[in-house]
Amino acid sequence: VLELRALEKHYGRIQAVNGFDLKSEEGELLAILGPSGSGKSTLMRMIAGLEKPSSGDILLDGQSVLGIPPRDRNVAMVFQSFALYPHMSVRDNILFPLVSRKVPKSQHQAKLDEVTRILEVDDLLDRRPTRLSGGQQQKVALARALVRDPELFVFDEPLSSLDAQIRSQARAELRELHDRTRITTLYVTHDQLEALGLADRVAVINKGRLHQVGTPRELYNDPADLFVAGFIGNPP
Ligand code: ATP
Ligand code: MG
Repeated sequence: VLELRALEKHYGRIQAVNGFDLKSEEGELLAILGPSGSGKSTLMRMIAGLEKPSSGDILLDGQSVLGIPPRDRNVAMVFQSFALYPHMSVRDNILFPLVSRKVPKSQHQAKLDEVTRILEVDDLLDRRPTRLSGGQQQKVALARALVRDPELFVFDEPLSSLDAQIRSQARAELRELHDRTRITTLYVTHDQLEALGLADRVAVINKGRLHQVGTPRELYNDPADLFVAGFIGNPP
């Protein structure tokens, strides 16, 4: 379970994240929905450990993770661009988190078999990521995230670089992966329909502030304020 307490981040005078309190529910898929510049990526980078908060705390299962470097946090992040290593094969990309965490080599093959079976990337293992389609790259990025058995998945607009057709397929696959693994997932998007269609709960943010968190139905039927109503597309 992830808990954010009074989390803040400013860059000089820009207040990117502004007093954020949020608690995930075990095993849920929680969408973080907000317009461009609302602080979504900043929030995710802090959770993954790629950026230090200005103040506040981030807890995983009740323990602060602020002192823990990204590699040792039990958080796996997938970026919009997938950020695969172009000079490595798909196999080495997927195994990289195990290598960097010094997991004994004897355990690699079993982990590789497990995640390639789940994501159906067996036939891509010897290829280079630069030669794959967007949808295939997404699967490899998900496999690389899954291989480390994370407690938390953090996806920052992982589908936005895909075209509309494979995007809806990729979305369904992502939901299926979540249903199968039940790993608590934060899913960042600026697309209302994607958030409402995919997530168990949605957190609506604007200008670094959390406006409302609830099920898609709650947000739609009972928006907390005008911003949520307007952004969800059900203005009063
Ligand atoms: P998008 O949907 O466009 O990806 P976002 O919701 O992810 O937007 P962030 O990238 O978190 O938004 O940015 C939030 C605010 O913080 C913006 O005003 C942005 O300009 C600012 N910001 C983000 N990173 C930095 C940085 N490294 N230095 C200075 N300002 C930054
Ligand atoms: Mg962003």
